[in-house]
Amino acid sequence: MGQFLDSVPVSAIVRIRDMMYTVKDPFRLDQGDVSFDAPDTFKQAVTKALAENRTHYLPTVGIPQLRKLCAEKMRTKNGIPVGSDDEVMVTNGGTHGLYAVIHALLEPGDEVIIPDPEWPPTMAMVTAAGGRPVQVPLRESLGWRWDIAEVEKAITPKTRVLYLNSPNNPSGGVLTRQDIEKLAAIARERNLWVISDEAYEDVVYSGEHVSIASLPGMYERTIPVYTMSKSYAITGVRVGYFAIKDATVRDRALKVVLYTTSNVSSLAQYGAVGALEGSQQCIADFKVELQARRDMFYQGLAEAAPGVFSGQPPDGAFYAFVKINPDWAKSAGLTGPSLSWAMAEYLIKHGRIGCVPGVDFGASCEGYMRFCTCRSREELNGALASMKQALATAVS
Ligand code: PLP
Repeated sequence: MGQFLDSVPVSAIVRIRDMMYTVKDPFRLDQGDVSFDAPDTFKQAVTKALAENRTHYLPTVGIPQLRKLCAEKMRTKNGIPVGSDDEVMVTNGGTHGLYAVIHALLEPGDEVIIPDPEWPPTMAMVTAAGGRPVQVPLRESLGWRWDIAEVEKAITPKTRVLYLNSPNNPSGGVLTRQDIEKLAAIARERNLWVISDEAYEDVVYSGEHVSIASLPGMYERTIPVYTMSKSYAITGVRVGYFAIKDATVRDRALKVVLYTTSNVSSLAQYGAVGALEGSQQCIADFKVELQARRDMFYQGLAEAAPGVFSGQPPDGAFYAFVKINPDWAKSAGLTGPSLSWAMAEYLIKHGRIGCVPGVDFGASCEGYMRFCTCRSREELNGALASMKQALATAVS
């Protein structure tokens, strides 16, 4: 009867998305869906593939051209010593890749160390695989990084996997090279697997992106998971990939991919080949614009919601993860069992602004809100103006 699924939560991001469909003229700052258009290299490759009738079944692991390009990208850009293209598997976006590797690694009861806050599907997928998510707080005072000693303390004999997500969704925290080196040493010492979710590898404004699998001896125990959704503005197309050195784990992941998709859409894969073969300029261009939007949003927030939200612009990703002033909430009569849910419902109802309650990303982030800053400038400005009005009404 699939009873185990009853304990798998539905992310608030999905619940909010459903609420937003009922709102007229909404500001969609709830979903991490970049507003840019996909690069022409991708579009032309899709059109060509269609004209050539590339609409048939494909190898489950992905088409050879794409696996080769992904392997090469991981070697040159991420510094990961991927051996042969056979170590690479193409997936239906990053979500599917994470689902496959989590299921390939976990036995029932295994614990997975996960950042708090973290993108909610991670915890749900670990639960769905029979594992136990153990969230360890990222510290806002450290720029939303782990205090590594706290990670060490959370490890038990049942810990199987250390889950990294840098840059982090929702906080934008970026682990330093030193953090990553320390975490690698812990993984080796405690014999842990590492899943490295690098969905935002291309959105780092300060600091550097370090793939833990590039460190000596780490690829053997690390599964780096990537998505093309954010880097190429193709969230709806669904292309991701990962690499696994260990043949046994790889065979297990292959079965998950096989029985959940058979193969990733042919057109999506040929389009991805075009995106990877062509100019990578769009990645740099997107980042410049995302940084401008981040700065614009934080400036606008200070004007639209003075004394309501606080927080520093993040080092990476494209979210504003800000703390709600509890005194303001009290004066505005925002009550209920969850402050962040009360705020989300208020902003949706009175401001038409999609946003996600912090508590959904982890227990330590009750009282925070997430706004996506990757939407167009026009939408961000519209949301800020609407917020200003809605918040002023709340206390008048
Ligand atoms: N990992 C993180 C941290 C994310 O935020 C997302 C999407 O928002 C993903 C993975 C998966 O992205 P997709 O399934 O769109 O490729």
